[in-house]
This record gives sequence, C-alpha cells and structure tokens, in this order.
Amino acid sequence: MSRILHRQIRTTLPVAVGGKGVELFDSEGRSYIDASGGAAVSCLGHGHPDIVAALHAQADKLAYAHTSFFTTEPAEALADRLIEDAPEGMSHVYFVSGGSEAVEAALKMARQYFVEIGQPERRNIIARRQSYHGNTLGALATGGNEWRRTQFRPLLVETHHIDPCFAYRFQQKGESDADYAARAAQALEDKILELGPDSVMAFVAETVVGATAGAVPPVADYLKRVRAICDRYGILLILDEVMCGMGRTGTLHACEQDGVAPDLMTIAKGLGGGYQPIGAVLLGRRIFDAFANGSGFFQHGHTYLGHPMACAAGLAVQEVIRRDDLLANVRRMGAHLTRRLGERFGNHPHVGDIRGRGLFMAVELVEDRSTKATFDPKQKLHARIKREAMARGLMVYPMGGTIDGARGDHVLLAPPFIVDEPIVDAIVERLGDAVDAAL
Ligand code: PMP
Repeated sequence: MSRILHRQIRTTLPVAVGGKGVELFDSEGRSYIDASGGAAVSCLGHGHPDIVAALHAQADKLAYAHTSFFTTEPAEALADRLIEDAPEGMSHVYFVSGGSEAVEAALKMARQYFVEIGQPERRNIIARRQSYHGNTLGALATGGNEWRRTQFRPLLVETHHIDPCFAYRFQQKGESDADYAARAAQALEDKILELGPDSVMAFVAETVVGATAGAVPPVADYLKRVRAICDRYGILLILDEVMCGMGRTGTLHACEQDGVAPDLMTIAKGLGGGYQPIGAVLLGRRIFDAFANGSGFFQHGHTYLGHPMACAAGLAVQEVIRRDDLLANVRRMGAHLTRRLGERFGNHPHVGDIRGRGLFMAVELVEDRSTKATFDPKQKLHARIKREAMARGLMVYPMGGTIDGARGDHVLLAPPFIVDEPIVDAIVERLGDAVDAAL
C-alpha cells in the first residue's frame, strides 16, 4: 500500500524501476515506449549517457550553493546558452524549479515592472479559456480550465478569459485562416477595451496549446496580431512554452515559427529533460532595465533557484540537442508521425482531428466524425485509452480537456527527440490498437 498521496488515489500504479532510450521498465519486468515523454518532459529519453555523466561530474564538484551567496558555473553557462538562442530582445534568465513556478515568477515580474515604471494600476491579466498554466494558485487562476479551478474559489487573482484557441471547432464555416486570426485577435482587443487599456498588465498564452486542448497550434498571423495589439496598448505578452518549448515543435522555441518574440517567456519540462526539475523565465531588456534602474532587485525567489545540478542537466541537454542536430530529427520524425497518424486515423469514424507541430501531436476523439460531437465525459474515454495503451506497452498522454466548455477527449503524443521511424511506427500501431480497444 503506497503512503504517497498520488493524484489518482484509487489507482494502483506500476513501479518504474529503470529507463533506457525511449523505454521505461517496471518492477514486473514490463517495458513501455515513452511516447509522451512523461508529460512532454523526457526530450532525450531515459538514461542518456551524456546527461548522466554531466550530473555525476557536477555532483562531484558542487551540488548546491545558495544564490544569496554565490552564482555558479553551470547556472551562468546555461543562462548564456539560453540567451544566445532566445527570441529577439530577451536579455536575462530567471531560474525556477518547474513550470508553475515559472508562470508565477513571470506574473510577478510583469506586476513589478509596471510598479517600477509608475503604472501600478495595471493589474488585470487576460488569458485564454483553452489553456493550462500550472497548478499553484496564481498559475491556476491564469489557466482557463474551469473544472480545475471551481473548488478553489475565491482565487487569489481573477484572470479574464477569452476564446478561442484554434481548435478547428472555433473556425466558422467558410471562414479563411486570415479572417479567423483577425477575429481571434479581436477578442483580445475587445477584452482590453472592456477592462480599460490602462488597467491591463499582460496577455498570457501558450504558443501551442498543450494538455488542455491537445497540441493546438495558432493559425497563421494570429500571434503577430496579438503582438501588435499588446504593443498598441502597452501590455506585456507572456508566452508560456513550458510544454511546447525547448525544441518540441522542431525549433527551440515554438514562437520562432510564428515570427513573434514575447516580453516574457516561461520554459520548463524539456529544459531539464526529466533529469532534474528546472524551469526558467526569459525576460526582455526593458523589464530587466526597469528593475535595474528602479528598486535594483526582483522581489521574488525560491531556495532552489539556479540549482547547480539542475542547471548542469539543462546545459547537457542543450549540448546534446545541438551536437546531434536533434531539432532536425524532431522536424523529420514529426513529419513521419503526422503521415503515419493520418494513415491510421485519417478515416477513423471516431477521430475528429489530428494536429500539432513537430513531435507535439494530438489525436482528437469524437462521438461523431461529421458533427464533431464529443463523447459523454462520464465515459472517461481518455482514461480507457490510457489503460489500453499501458497494457500494450505504450505511454501516451490522454486528456479529457475542455475544448469549448464541453469536455472532449484527445491523446497527446510527445516522444523523445531521439525516436526513429520504426519507433514512430510502433507508437502509431500500438496507439491504434489501444484506441480501438477502448472505444
Ligand atoms: N504551463 C504549461 C503550458 C504546462 O503545460 C504546464 C504543465 N503541464 C505548466 C505550465 C506547469 O508546469 P509544472 O507542472 O512543471 O508546474
């Protein structure tokens, strides 16, 4: 009997005892292809010898030094690397231990920025209804997923949520992508005007919407329009790339493909590749300058920020990605995965959509392919798919997320960047069997 308060209290979980490459092994000797990277975390797979060596070396040298006394070599080197590869205008890195902490830090940075520049009345945050930004109270308030938040009201911050996030179901019949992008961006502008432009601090969005809606990329030009609107009203753009970032979509940052640079960007998950818990906020020069020329510090901090072991892992992950040209493999294998999913599910009576970017893909399940009506949430289809997949030695990340207020089911795939064609083929074959068995 486990003494851990697990997320699913009544479910008995297998015990993971090892991992090598794209596979995990449990205590009963079963193996599983990790087609979800856990939750889009394990970007280099498991037991990677270079990361293990980097961790050993760092542990031998220095495991911990508190940041009120010291900076450290791995933290400085990782910050240099992240800024070298960052979107235009980003000048500094703030390290944390995970995604929610990154979102919290970004929100506080935005708030302090406006205090520093003499606009303390800017407090409102706008985000999208189809979003997940973390589980700590501030991040929870920012995400739009109502069922996650209801029982925790009153929340510390009330975020203002808008639609849509681009699941196909938001596009009206006959509406071009350009018109759709304009309409969605208009929803942001309308909300800004309704709240009063001088009261709005930030717009927060996942570049590619992850767990909640299932790997939904923005339609062309949407983020450019959003950027222009934020600039017009002096509002900060915070892109949350905790899940979709750090190479998962085939470029280091997903927003590179949209030609947009945010003011603040959150990263985590793939940053440590699962070898260490680590997250970060990348911030633009004007935010740094406001702090540097104002109070002289950022009023925030956690005990483990810039942890040398975590930063050594992050640095080693970045070095392997560069050395082995893994972003090119993400693009190649992403295209192969898209093709294979299309072959297996393209005409499936219960598949409503196949979408994503790079090795960040989702298959959406619907009751009726023509109307896109979702399954009754009581059926818990996503949970059944997960069970059937695990029974077939496959880890996928199915969610019964909110797509437009109603629940819908999708399966998220985020395999390690090191996959090859035979592994991708095995993932699709096992997933196909699992979906059919679950239906
Ligand atoms: N933002 C996004 C977009 C995420 O997907 C997640 C985690 N799924 C978080 C924030 C929170 O990250 P963490 O679980 O590491 O706190």
